[in-house]
Amino acid sequence: MRPPPPFADTVFDRVSALARKTGAINLGQGFPEIEHAPELLAAAQRALVEHSNQYPPMRGLPHLREAVVRYYAQEQGLELDSSQVIVTSGATEALAAAISALVGPGDEVVLLQPFYDAYLPLVQRAGGTARIVPLQAPGWTIPFDRLEAAIGPMTRAIILNTPNNPTGTLLTRTDLERLGALCAAHDLVLICDEVWEGMIIDGSTHVSPLHIEGLRERAVKIGSAGKIFSLTGWKVGWALAAPALAERIAAQHQFLTFTTAVPLQWAVAEGLPLPATWHAAHRARYAASYQRLATGLAAACYKVLPSAATWFLIVDLAASGLEPDDEAVATRMIREAGVAAIPVSAFCGDAPEKGYLRFCFAKEDATLDAAIERLARFRS
Ligand code: PMP
Ligand code: GLN
Repeated sequence: MRPPPPFADTVFDRVSALARKTGAINLGQGFPEIEHAPELLAAAQRALVEHSNQYPPMRGLPHLREAVVRYYAQEQGLELDSSQVIVTSGATEALAAAISALVGPGDEVVLLQPFYDAYLPLVQRAGGTARIVPLQAPGWTIPFDRLEAAIGPMTRAIILNTPNNPTGTLLTRTDLERLGALCAAHDLVLICDEVWEGMIIDGSTHVSPLHIEGLRERAVKIGSAGKIFSLTGWKVGWALAAPALAERIAAQHQFLTFTTAVPLQWAVAEGLPLPATWHAAHRARYAASYQRLATGLAAACYKVLPSAATWFLIVDLAASGLEPDDEAVATRMIREAGVAAIPVSAFCGDAPEKGYLRFCFAKEDATLDAAIERLARFRS
């Protein structure tokens, strides 16, 4: 099920298409079944008639850039300035702008595997080469010795993802401090994809590189309103960086999309200041869905790895007594059980990690229960 790198249809599109064709329950692509943010939908409707629908400023609506800064002060205790914020068409465009700002032909970028599927093609499109360092399963910890060995004279950046899709794990402050020391020693930029920062479901605290003293000048923080509000189709995201770095990212953004749908920018600017209790209640719904799927799968003898964040949990195939070939099991599961999941090898480069499947639990209880029942039958 893995695409020939780098530009075939994404694994998410292919699995969703197969799920539609076969009528399988789709726990593959990460999107919620219900929209839980009526405040945002109402704000977007109002924005269409109350505000101009012409081009907003290239770096984003000032209201939104200020709301992003206040949101990070409220949720993460970060002190930022709106001049650091560039609004983009989803986190995907923020990643593209940051990577093309920092990487050119011959440059190298370190990726930690498994990694979100967009990173590798974006690095390659910029003319760069990826140096891939596997995280250590099943805890998905960073092997710092291997990471350091992967850094060479042409390395320009490390791309991180915390909370991590697909593993559901978070980097610790100690991890980030060690990464900060490496970046300072080798003059690297840390591109940190934090789109899942609003979806921590086990009470852990999110730590961003922008919390770490030595990283504030050399980190790019990437966020997504699509994830914060569970409105994945909105594609409103942002990159935050120190002024000189922000300048370089904005220079790329102006010729990628120039700007992003303005009514949605207004709506996100209205949504971000919702009280911390709103954001906490939003997360709590997903924490309950995680518990439901994790408990149901465990009762059906699947070995579920703990997820601290995201809409995803991982099943360890060998520990569940299944063959350790994720693509083969995923294909069989769609056809025989009628449940779609994503093989973790789709988040890998060469030497893929083959023993794990990712399931999305951001679904209605009835959908999760039906999937659990089908997956229990698949085992018997
Ligand atoms: N990074 C990660 C880790 C993601 O999981 C996703 C989407 N699921 C994105 C980036 C893309 O976000 P957006 O839809 O805002 O472009
Ligand atoms: N990020 C979503 C996921 O991990 C999918 C996004 C997409 O379809 N490109 O499932």
